[in-house]
Amino acid sequence: MKKKSGISKAVLITGCSSGIGHATALRLVKAGYTVYATARRPETLKDLAQAGCKTLALDVNDEASMASAVAAVEKAEGAVGILINNAGYSQSGPIEEIPIERIRKQYETNVFGLVRMCQLVLPGMRRQGYGRIVNIGSMGGVLTFPGGGIYHSTKYAVEAISDALRFEVKGFGVDVVLIQPGLIKTEFSEAAVSSIGAVKKAEGPYGTFTDTVAKATKEAYEKGPLALLGGSGEDVAAVIERALSTKCPKARYRVTLSAHLLMTQRAMLPDGVWDFFLKTQFPQPGRGGANG
Ligand code: NAP
Repeated sequence: MKKKSGISKAVLITGCSSGIGHATALRLVKAGYTVYATARRPETLKDLAQAGCKTLALDVNDEASMASAVAAVEKAEGAVGILINNAGYSQSGPIEEIPIERIRKQYETNVFGLVRMCQLVLPGMRRQGYGRIVNIGSMGGVLTFPGGGIYHSTKYAVEAISDALRFEVKGFGVDVVLIQPGLIKTEFSEAAVSSIGAVKKAEGPYGTFTDTVAKATKEAYEKGPLALLGGSGEDVAAVIERALSTKCPKARYRVTLSAHLLMTQRAMLPDGVWDFFLKTQFPQPGRGGANG
């Protein structure tokens, strides 16, 4: 979408092969935006291309790939008007047992990739005096489930980065919006469960706990109470469209009842009471506990 003034409102979205990114690309292109849907495997974007999106390869772990995608949009449109930092996944498992290189990879994707994309698009946004950056955070950016500590820590980082950036770029005409989805039925849970499988040790102090985290993750998305209070990629896409179409977007948008309820519950409960609640959901590893 281009304004009459020549200001680019072209949208660049990371991680469009499935889930929230895919749904958002589809919704925004139908709404009339010029959408650059990207993925590290561009062959996954065929249906989005048919729907009218322009498609590009973009791996947020790869500097050259990020830089060339942004350069391609700038060449065609003048600037990336709207960046949607969506690519992400959960490296789940007990903190003691996740190999440090997997933790680095998790930060490369969920945090460093997001920051680098902001750095790459901001000069163009500042030049035209308009831009909107939408970061996909999570309710897991303000509360933490056991077995999800590393993933949650990346989303806490996205909270802080979004807050600081919102202040730093507002004066250049750039708004920063943080989306906080609750449980969303996408490919996310499958990737999280398989990431647990990849780090699980056959013998060790966290065996039962790790199995329970994997089972709880799978069930939460399929049939648990959270699944009933969850949503779809389209629900998140609808909120993103709202955040783009309003003149003065909010700093944060919660999506789904699960996000509203759990974030409120966490804010109200002292740490000890929250931990007690978690003990009713997960076996606590340790002496006398699971694998004790
Ligand atoms: P999804 O269906 O698994 O989509 C994740 C997307 O990220 C995929 O397109 C994936 O591409 C992409 N991705 C992963 N690593 C990448 C990389 N290095 N470079 C570029 N793309 C990469 O899950 P989703 O639920 O839509 O997740 C989207 C975002 O929402 C994530 O940031 C996630 O943390 C956040 N979120 C999800 C939930 C939820 O419950 N689902 C809740 C809160 C927040 P490949 O197909 O190539 O792997």
